[in-house]
Amino acid sequence: MDSPSISMVDVSAWLAASAVDLDEGVLALDEAGTILLCNEGMNRIFGLRSSPLGLPFAEAFGREGRLGGCYSESFFDAVTGKNTGAVPDIRLEKPAGPESYGLVMLRAPVGGGRLTVCLVKRAVGLPPGGSPAGSTRGEEERGEEKLHTQIAELVRANAQLRMLNAERSAVTQTLRRAESRYRDIVDNAMEGFFQWTPNWRLLLANRAFAKILGYDTVNELMRSAGDVSFHFSLSPEAGQTLMDELERKEHIIGYEFQVARRDGVVLWASMSARRVTGPGGRTKYYEAFIENISGRRIAEEKLTYQAFHDHLTGLANRALFRDRLGMALRRTARQPECRFAVLTLDLDRFKQVNENFGHSAGDEVLCHVAVSLLSCVRDTDTVARLGEDEFAVFLEETESNSFAFRVSRRIQAALERPFLVKGREIGVSASIGIVLNAEKYESAEDILRDAGIALNRAKTDRGICYKVFTQKMRMAMQGGIVFETELRQGLNSQEFRMNYQPIVRMEDGGLFGFEALLRWHHNGKVISPSRFIPVAEDSGLIRKLGLFAIECVCRQLVEWQQRHAVSFVTHLNISARQLVFPGFPKDVRRIIDRAGVDPSLLVFEITESALLEQSEACLRGIQQIYELGVRFCLDDFGTGFSSLSYLRQLPLSCMKVDRSFVTDVETNSQSLIIVRNLVGLGRELGLSVVVEGVERYSQVQALLDVGCSLGQGYYFSPPLPPREAEKLL
Ligand code: C2E
Ligand code: CA
Ligand code: CA
Repeated sequence: MDSPSISMVDVSAWLAASAVDLDEGVLALDEAGTILLCNEGMNRIFGLRSSPLGLPFAEAFGREGRLGGCYSESFFDAVTGKNTGAVPDIRLEKPAGPESYGLVMLRAPVGGGRLTVCLVKRAVGLPPGGSPAGSTRGEEERGEEKLHTQIAELVRANAQLRMLNAERSAVTQTLRRAESRYRDIVDNAMEGFFQWTPNWRLLLANRAFAKILGYDTVNELMRSAGDVSFHFSLSPEAGQTLMDELERKEHIIGYEFQVARRDGVVLWASMSARRVTGPGGRTKYYEAFIENISGRRIAEEKLTYQAFHDHLTGLANRALFRDRLGMALRRTARQPECRFAVLTLDLDRFKQVNENFGHSAGDEVLCHVAVSLLSCVRDTDTVARLGEDEFAVFLEETESNSFAFRVSRRIQAALERPFLVKGREIGVSASIGIVLNAEKYESAEDILRDAGIALNRAKTDRGICYKVFTQKMRMAMQGGIVFETELRQGLNSQEFRMNYQPIVRMEDGGLFGFEALLRWHHNGKVISPSRFIPVAEDSGLIRKLGLFAIECVCRQLVEWQQRHAVSFVTHLNISARQLVFPGFPKDVRRIIDRAGVDPSLLVFEITESALLEQSEACLRGIQQIYELGVRFCLDDFGTGFSSLSYLRQLPLSCMKVDRSFVTDVETNSQSLIIVRNLVGLGRELGLSVVVEGVERYSQVQALLDVGCSLGQGYYFSPPLPPREAEKLL
């Protein structure tokens, strides 16, 4: 801090300001005789060629004065002497002749030293350049009086200076108090405050800053941490980045970075700093407020973790998985040789685990699955839980497709190994959908979508552990999606019609009955049931569609009966999904009653493979409908998993030998043997046997040879619209 008193420089500056316009010369010297002030009047009187400021008095005004001005011995003696007061006669030799001047001098204590102020004035009453010898006594006295007045003025000025001095020190006191108040605020601030130099030397710090860095007091910090680079340069870049930023921006706000505490613990800090500059814009030091934000950071990190992880298993969640895939896709843009694969998994029958053992057991199973999955992949791969029992694996850098298959098999094996849940041994299995060459995709969403499609395929194809996605699957799937809504609309706007394909007695070609087959007339096209029935089954629309088909057939039979007084059995395809709807038998009964049809004319065709899926409920439905008088036929016989025990459990009256055995029955002896055996089996069980897909006369002959009597196929007739079928009656 500066001294509170007024300095020589201050006074001379003040004097200079008031002496600029004076005719008189004003000169001020400090105690050592250095010239602090020399006004224009002085320069004029002495004819100085340049400013004497800062020079010793003798150099400017002595006999060999450097500035080439006039020399006056009396002036030199008076100023260098100790006296104060007036010197009435100093003579200057000038080119135009000698001139007389008066001098008034004041010596005053200022700022701990002594200030000499001189006022040089042309002598009163003397003509410029004239001799004082001609002046009268009275004139001299008046001149002296004037000088006294001027001295008095200077004394007054001196007094004013003292007042100014006092005022200054009062201001300084106030400033000091303010500064100490601010220092208190900084010292006690909750935020850390510190100043440091570009080479990390600590200049100043407050208590909070010391505490952040793990010191008990500021003094302790200053003693042991003169250099704070240790705390701020956890990574060499971190500290340097901060400095670079400050050099570039003057100040930075909320700069978050890691700080090492004295004991080595790493904290997160937020800092607002500025660069303090000196003359020429050079950095003097930096100062900053700093806050320990580790708590906030930990909370943030926890939230981020929660946002990207599954809370139950701790695996990545869908968002993180998508993010990882996105990153990998961006990376392959740079490294096209990088290949990766994505697997999605869905546990088989997980619902049953939940239902039979409770949800906490279900949770245990999911956690077990998570651990198993992690054990099957490398550290660089990502395992995620996407939904309830849906998982995904992202295999990075898969060198070959077989790697993805190997992992899939490893996963299957790991899951099937039984483990204990609530004291019981459980083993799970999963269906897996695989997307190979996932790096060819544009977005993570697309990969997941296709992996899902492949997964669905794996799920529907029983006994298959994994399925690789193909473009064909997507096309079929997309078709399916359009279908479902259109199917719904088609049902409401009566786009469905029933066709009837004759079932013929093969020995004479006589009509035995019909099989009713649905047709969908949609957008000018006729769509086959093999395309829309599976969609109707999956969407649940089969219930409504199935009832519509039964109603249609019943009405048709009654109509034909009324018109032609003949009645024929009519086969109708029933999906196993229809049979499990609890109200189905009642609905059938209502339709039969309302139409007034003889139920024994109706034969419901069911397939054995469909029955396998939902046996219990199906069997119950079949039994109830059988009790209404409706008969049953086993369709596509020979294609399912064929457990003969079913044939005994079901109240069957008929079975249909699948078309696949008929196709080459006349040329392939194997097919012929099978057909012969199937016919024999049917006959033994007391069932009538129908062979389907008869297209050629040669087939008819071969079939008749092995004892088939009833046939159906294009050879006899394709499925016909009612009006055409009616002609056969
Ligand atoms: P399906 O029960 O096996 O029906 C026989 C299928 O073979 C029919 O196909 C029929 O048109 C076709 N077909 C008949 N004779 C020949 C032939 O000589 N050669 C060849 N290659 N095919 C022949 P469609 O009508 O396309 O029906 C396909 C499947 O859709 C049916 O197979 C049946 O499972 C199902 N379906 C048809 N209508 C219904 C229905 O109303 N409800 C239910 N749930 N399913 C139905
Ligand atoms: Ca059928
Ligand atoms: Ca069939």
